[in-house]
Amino acid sequence: MKLIRFGQSGQEKPGIIDGNGDRIDVSSFGEDFTEEFFETDGISRLRTWLSKSANNCPKVSKETRLGPPLCRPSKIICVGLNYAKHAKESGMQLPTEPVLFFKATSAICGPNDDVIIPKNSVKTDWEVELAVVIGKRASYVLESEAMDFVAGYTIHNDVSEREFQLEREGQWVKGKSNDTFAPLGPWILTADEIDNPSNLNLWLKLNGETMQNSNTSDMVFKIPELISYISQFMTLLPGDVISTGTPFGVGLGLDPQRYLVPGDVMELGIDGMGVGKQKVIAYQ
Ligand code: ZN
Repeated sequence: MKLIRFGQSGQEKPGIIDGNGDRIDVSSFGEDFTEEFFETDGISRLRTWLSKSANNCPKVSKETRLGPPLCRPSKIICVGLNYAKHAKESGMQLPTEPVLFFKATSAICGPNDDVIIPKNSVKTDWEVELAVVIGKRASYVLESEAMDFVAGYTIHNDVSEREFQLEREGQWVKGKSNDTFAPLGPWILTADEIDNPSNLNLWLKLNGETMQNSNTSDMVFKIPELISYISQFMTLLPGDVISTGTPFGVGLGLDPQRYLVPGDVMELGIDGMGVGKQKVIAYQ
């Protein structure tokens, strides 16, 4: 199943994309895609409900804005330097265990919303990533059981301000958390629809030019290992997002380096997860 949320920012309603590619309003199911929804096996319940009620659900226009495909989660945990060639282009050593950092959940926006270059920014950059959505509470999870804790997957553009991230004191969080720095979607593809999340093409184009083009098989630390590892340090709650790292081809790694300017358009996609498209605008 493909979960979407649609409507104006802050007033999104839940929906799905059906087998015909139509957007269907499922707000009469009575639940949004919250922590509680995932925790109480909402995906299965929604599927059962749809088998009886789908015919009564209104279609949603393709013109309608898509929001992020889940309600604001308790946290976004990002994995740094998880593709070897990206670590190299960043001038960093390949880590011996996963590098983790947080991203503020207030950065979340819809998959086709404008990305705002922050005040005083000169180095705003792009990062296509596979995001894992957690389906149930996970603490001290074994790697062998880790995939049972996945609700689904979506696309995350881990937009990054490199000066804030790398040239200011302290942690990466400062360069990762500005408003609109976490476009998510267009949809969550539920875990049952993916045979192997470690073999998905992912790509990003800037103004039509391919900048990133890789496969999740190139990850240094694979998804089960990441879930197990993170759960040694914190409890993952249903709906939490793990962003699994970006491949080679970000602006930081180019020679000369290249950063986003107003008017740029980023398009990014992952097999089975659709395409997001974000225009870059200046902070006003
Ligand atoms: Zn990243």
